[in-house]
Amino acid sequence: MPRYDVIVIGARCSGASTGMLLARQGYRVLVVDRSTFPSDVISTHFLWPHGTSYLNRWGLLDQALAVTPAHTEVTFVNDGIPLTGSVPDELLRAYFRDWHGDDTGVVRSYASIRRHVLDQMLVEAASKAGAEIRTNFTVRELITEGEQVVGVRGRTSDGRLVEERARIVVGADGRNSFVARSLGLPKFDERPRCTFAYWSYYSGFDLGPAQLHRRGRLACAVAPTNHDQNMVLVWGPSEWSREFRRDVPGNFQRALDFVSPELGEVVRTQGVRAERIYGTLDQSAFLRPLAGPGWVLVGDAESAKDQCTAIGMTHAFRGAELVADALGRWLSGDVSLNEAMTTYESRRRSQNAAAYYDYVCTLAEMRPYRHDELQLFVALRGNQQEIDRFVATHADIAPVSEFFQASNLLLLNDAAKESSAGYPVFDDFPTTARMYQQNLFA
Ligand SMILES: Cc1cc2nc3c(=O)[nH]c(=O)nc-3n(C[C@H](O)[C@H](O)[C@H](O)COP(=O)(O)OP(=O)(O)OC[C@H]3O[C@@H](n4cnc5c(N)ncnc54)[C@H](O)[C@@H]3O)c2cc1C
Repeated sequence: MPRYDVIVIGARCSGASTGMLLARQGYRVLVVDRSTFPSDVISTHFLWPHGTSYLNRWGLLDQALAVTPAHTEVTFVNDGIPLTGSVPDELLRAYFRDWHGDDTGVVRSYASIRRHVLDQMLVEAASKAGAEIRTNFTVRELITEGEQVVGVRGRTSDGRLVEERARIVVGADGRNSFVARSLGLPKFDERPRCTFAYWSYYSGFDLGPAQLHRRGRLACAVAPTNHDQNMVLVWGPSEWSREFRRDVPGNFQRALDFVSPELGEVVRTQGVRAERIYGTLDQSAFLRPLAGPGWVLVGDAESAKDQCTAIGMTHAFRGAELVADALGRWLSGDVSLNEAMTTYESRRRSQNAAAYYDYVCTLAEMRPYRHDELQLFVALRGNQQEIDRFVATHADIAPVSEFFQASNLLLLNDAAKESSAGYPVFDDFPTTARMYQQNLFA
């Protein structure tokens, strides 16, 4: 009999959560991570309401919100057309019933929780639930017997090579998953076109709820976060990144000024940058196989996407609930491992999940919005219910296919016909569209 039921590699959003949920079910869980905590990881850490709802379901939200501002409204400004909305309660409840069969713990607020705050909290919760946590532990090898993964060999902080065995190994080890590489798992449905993203933390202003601005091929966002700071982020098409990187601080401000002159002005005149500017270019999207003999993947390890809709952590939480539920049913003897993994796979690779993956990957190409798309945003302005549904769709709370179905768009477009007056983007649209194609940083 192995010492553990489950070994989880990775102790952040997907790994610590999976470990916590399985330990709460009474299983013997070891969670390992090469990091030590508290620490950050590359992420702008914005959590949509279903992300915070997972924390609430697990009894952790109050602790997070004791040190993190939260809001319900969010503002999108596309080419100067503002839309402010919040996710409706009934859509959130439908989401949880659809994915998990119950809607306990639903909250409508979002929060941008620094990873050194959130991940530490998750690790502590997993430990409190009874999981054994080993940090500063780098997995170097998967132990196999025939095809079956039966454990891990890893190096501890003092350089010792330690071997541990379990009935199953969970790869919650991020987009460059060691588990996936060791097993030679292929990536599929890869989408190389993605965004570059640069961000930092500013004190000195308070703009209230989060704002996401987009103009042409560039975007920026500001969200209040821990320590009375704001996370300020700019992103654009990866094919512009080489030029952007020639002068990161200068181009950061330049992008802000172009996308939202108002936000640019606030950051320039009032903002006090508290940390360096962080960035990443590696955000191509892909899927990987989910499970095999003795192993299963969760979080970014099984599906990584561009940051442009800020969904990875929430999906990592969702995956943690799904995988902990599936493994729990197998470990308790209710179903075979094969049956449990088939259920996990059918949920994760559902039609709606595929449609949202497509949505993120298409947005990440950062094409300028077309005239009719912008008209749609104008039309939405008269209809709060549809704005809220758009916000919920963008956040993967309501199914993409329902919002963007032909009948809904025809209805909205009809309303749009006479309403685009007053928005400068429409004044000489062909000239604007041509200007948007030029690399601002070249
Ligand atoms: C620029 C950027 C911005 C983002 N912004 C947002 C956002 O605003 N909102 C949002 O929801 N998501 C965002 N994301 C996505 C989000 O950060 C990820 O989806 C999320 O971190 C995935 O969590 P995870 O637990 O699966 O993996 P990770 O957070 O990557 O954690 C994996 C862990 O595995 C450990 N590990 C790896 N290999 C080993 C090994 N061999 N041995 C031991 N430990 C190992 C690592 O140390 C790490 O701690 C962003 C991503 C990027 C790149």
